[in-house]
Amino acid sequence: MPKITIAIDGYSSCGKSTIAKALAQRLNYSYIDTGAMYRAVTLYALRNGLIDAKRNIDNEALIKALKKIKVDFKFNTQSKVSETFLNDENVEHDIRSMEVSDNVSKVSTIHEVREKMVALQREMGKNKGVILDGRDIGTNVFPNAELKLFMTADNEIRAQRRLDEYSSKGQYFTLEEVKLNLNKRDYEDTHRKENPLTKAKDAIVLDNTDLNKEQQLEFVLKLIADMQLTKDTVA
Ligand code: C5P
Repeated sequence: MPKITIAIDGYSSCGKSTIAKALAQRLNYSYIDTGAMYRAVTLYALRNGLIDAKRNIDNEALIKALKKIKVDFKFNTQSKVSETFLNDENVEHDIRSMEVSDNVSKVSTIHEVREKMVALQREMGKNKGVILDGRDIGTNVFPNAELKLFMTADNEIRAQRRLDEYSSKGQYFTLEEVKLNLNKRDYEDTHRKENPLTKAKDAIVLDNTDLNKEQQLEFVLKLIADMQLTKDTVA
């Protein structure tokens, strides 16, 4: 089957990256975590004093700094996942901090930031055989993606999953703190002016509240197999 583009959008902590990574391995596709790219820009802004404690961003300075910000991914052959690099430094761990999570949605509203990230994503994905997850992939980055998924899951489950992820990395928060961050980000991501999170008309909803990784993988692989079948029938 010819390589396709797979767009996965959805709310925070719905397990988008888990299924995207599993699919990438199974199909031998590359995986682009677009949220990690916005997180890397946010980390740069925090480290360089461009965001104050009240979440005020020095937009002008950040926009000016964009030309000095290089974000890319390198495949780690040991862990078999790609890791995020900011100006050649591996920041895979640092971009997942609560401080970054608290500020990333605001940074993502800046037009120039989005413009640069979207251009990079289109360049990285131009040869197909790629899975991107984020908030505006099916609606804006690759509106012609052959397969679009919109992921969702129960609020409580999402918060619990994120809490477990934090504690597995030695970062401890209460369930309430995690919920607050998820809800705030979802609100900001669905209400921003430019390319807000919304389901693309042709996206297929995947609610994984009661599905494990294998069941989700099976669901998506079947969708891909059916696409091929439909194409063969039509041809
Ligand atoms: O996917 P993740 O939770 O790491 O994304 C972090 C944030 O990056 C999101 O809450 C959103 O504000 C922003 N984002 C975005 N567009 C994307 C991917 C992520 O605005 N395509």
